[in-house]
Amino acid sequence: MTQHNAGPVTGSILVVGGGIAGLTAALEAAEAGHEVHLVEKNHYLGGRVAQLHRYFPKLCPPSCGLEINFKRIRQNPRIHCWTGAQVEKVDGPPGDLEVTVRVAPRYVNERCTACGDCVAVCPVERADDFNYGLSRTTAIYLPHAFAFPLRFAVDRGVCPGLECGRCLPACKVDAIELGMQPRSMKLKVGAVVYATGWQPYDAARLEGLGFGQAKNVITNVMMERLAAPGGPTAGKITRPSDGRPPQHVVFVQCAGSRDENHLAYCSAVCCLASLKQATYVREQVPDARVHMFYIDVRTPGRYEDFYTKVAADPNVTLSRGKVARVSELPGSGNLLVEAENTLTGELLRVETELVVLATGMQPTASAVAHDSLGFLRVDRAAGFGAAGCARRPADVAGSVQDATGAALRAIQTAGRPIHG
Ligand SMILES: Cc1cc2nc3c(=O)[nH]c(=O)nc-3n(C[C@H](O)[C@H](O)[C@H](O)COP(=O)(O)OP(=O)(O)OC[C@H]3O[C@@H](n4cnc5c(N)ncnc54)[C@H](O)[C@@H]3O)c2cc1C
Repeated sequence: MTQHNAGPVTGSILVVGGGIAGLTAALEAAEAGHEVHLVEKNHYLGGRVAQLHRYFPKLCPPSCGLEINFKRIRQNPRIHCWTGAQVEKVDGPPGDLEVTVRVAPRYVNERCTACGDCVAVCPVERADDFNYGLSRTTAIYLPHAFAFPLRFAVDRGVCPGLECGRCLPACKVDAIELGMQPRSMKLKVGAVVYATGWQPYDAARLEGLGFGQAKNVITNVMMERLAAPGGPTAGKITRPSDGRPPQHVVFVQCAGSRDENHLAYCSAVCCLASLKQATYVREQVPDARVHMFYIDVRTPGRYEDFYTKVAADPNVTLSRGKVARVSELPGSGNLLVEAENTLTGELLRVETELVVLATGMQPTASAVAHDSLGFLRVDRAAGFGAAGCARRPADVAGSVQDATGAALRAIQTAGRPIHG
């Protein structure tokens, strides 16, 4: 492991997590004149937003918003991005922190042009985590079509390395380095913003809802990938069992959220996400019917218009009902959804072709101070701030506002930047 020691830089800021919140905090601080180190564990920036098909309420593709941020990063020499990297240790008082960062090898260097010649010769496959396992890639892979940086990486968990080595002669620019080593570096910063985001709640833990047992039960994050042009079906929403477009789709709200046995809180975006996904279905399959079972529909503030517009579609039905069971019907791959109206106790049964579980957002596990639900606490005494879904469940607009506030607090803690 090589060591790289950066000299002390008063006023510099570390941002952990390169999702929309981390990107925003990093850009706000850098554009205010501070040196910023942005540490992201994936081999690309953008976080979960990069995996969405469209944003509610305007239904524009997230790639537009991300691209603007990437352009600002490319143009700002004060931001230093470390992908495939994680913080190992933070020592010292606020204003004078020493951070140890470990950068994992990518096995592909900056010469990569993303031509894909390596893919044609790679004999090993892996599940594509960007598509939530709905497709496969070769062991050498491009994280996704709009990845930043746009460069391949090798999954050494499955790649046999030099024992195979077929990719090496296929690469005309000598970009593949199967012997690349992890490296460790020390950074001097004045403050840290944690923007480590969220992960989807594990749907396999939702007993009775059929995930992992019935093929046509998927989660909301999978639906984003199914609808995305760069996704596993090139943007066609189809049933996993037979590849047919579904004529009837049921959305199960609060799949895990607002449940003491799973996530005790409201995940804040799932109702809007399902309403948005109802528009994906309706756009692609003109006669399709969509049925959403909810406990309460939560679309606060200015999102009310979006709710009203989607709910006005005669092919979209919204029913109050806590779904207790989803079972596969023999032969067709269809599903029987059984729910109970939470006010009247009435039992509702609906047959459908595809079930989407609106699983909630769980804060990414962290060693930093957090509350009983796992959300990070702002710890000003230690020089630590938190932003985005690491701090609370939030939409993109809320995460961006949060991050701007966290950047301001980090600037106050880090002190004035010194420029040579
Ligand atoms: C199904 C679904 C659909 C949604 N659709 C919309 C929508 O249409 N509009 C909208 O406004 N919101 C939507 N959201 C919410 C949106 O995804 C979040 O608001 C957004 O992702 C929050 O960004 P973030 O940066 O806080 O977290 P993330 O996007 O999770 O980014 C966090 C980043 O931190 C990195 N990271 C984590 N741990 C570490 C570590 N230890 N070290 C280094 N890096 C780390 C991660 O790899 C990731 O890149 C949706 C959510 C769901 C579940």
